Amino acid sequence: MPNRRNLYFFYKQTEEMTKAIEPLRDFAKKHNFTLVSDYRDADIIASVGGDNAFLQAIRKTDFREDCLYVGINIDQLGFYTDFDIKDPNAMITAVEDEQLEVWRNAVIEVSIDGQKPFYCINECTIRSNVIKTLVMDVFIDDLHFETFRGDGLIISTPTGSTAYNKSVRGAIVDPKLPSLQVSELASLNNNTYRTLGTSFILGGERSLTIKIIQDGNDHPIMGVDNEALSIQHAEMITLRLAEKKIKTLKLKHNSFWQKVQRSFL
Ligand code: NAP
Ligand code: MN
Repeated sequence: MPNRRNLYFFYKQTEEMTKAIEPLRDFAKKHNFTLVSDYRDADIIASVGGDNAFLQAIRKTDFREDCLYVGINIDQLGFYTDFDIKDPNAMITAVEDEQLEVWRNAVIEVSIDGQKPFYCINECTIRSNVIKTLVMDVFIDDLHFETFRGDGLIISTPTGSTAYNKSVRGAIVDPKLPSLQVSELASLNNNTYRTLGTSFILGGERSLTIKIIQDGNDHPIMGVDNEALSIQHAEMITLRLAEKKIKTLKLKHNSFWQKVQRSFL
């Protein structure tokens, strides 16, 4: 087995951050990691920042399946970031004490009109880009389930369920359940338009297809995690759990539900 110790640090390229991670670089070199300046040469990709930095790190390095991602925090620990920049020794202690595990995080694959898919680890949002409702037909597998009229929909992974999804009263989903959660943004409900009105959770084998009704407001804004997609036009959007997973290094004794408790209770 080759020793896979090529390490790439992902962080916001500011003078302050470059300075802040200097001790981490020294620490890594001291522990026989090879620092690489191109993420394509990396075996391990470490984001420094919060959950947002972690989301960006995955996106900017193309959702690599053959890499281990590690989230290092600057302030409080996040949902994806189990390590702290001020305590790099904790990582080594964790290795020595076998306190680390690799979590395989589900990602959503989004394809628009049959083009090359996009990936997201938190959620995909489809929203009206004007002060006008967006109308879409929602299909679960082949079933035409509802016609949605409103501001939009959020489709989240279990680990993304604590983010945007939570703020619209979606459920928190255990990441051990491979699934997609669909949550509404201000749906219109009256005698003409009817949606379920609550979030629903689809099993990991299902697909969700959204057909944008071409009525003049057919240029929705789509977001994948913390980035907007630059699509000009979309008619049919298909979402499913991707076959690939993102390998994330975490502490064994820092479970998802502990994070939920720490963050919200
Ligand atoms: P932002 O407003 O700068 O920050 C979003 C906050 O959510 C940050 O504090 C971030 O943690 C945290 N976060 C990210 N992923 C999380 C997760 N899975 N569980 C719990 N907290 C999480 O957001 P941004 O940079 O534009 O986009 C990042 C995410 O923001 C999106 O994926 C979306 O979920 C979320 N968002 C939420 C709302 C809302 O709640 N109303 C609206 C839009 C977007 P750190 O501070 O550690 O980075
Ligand atoms: Mn942000």
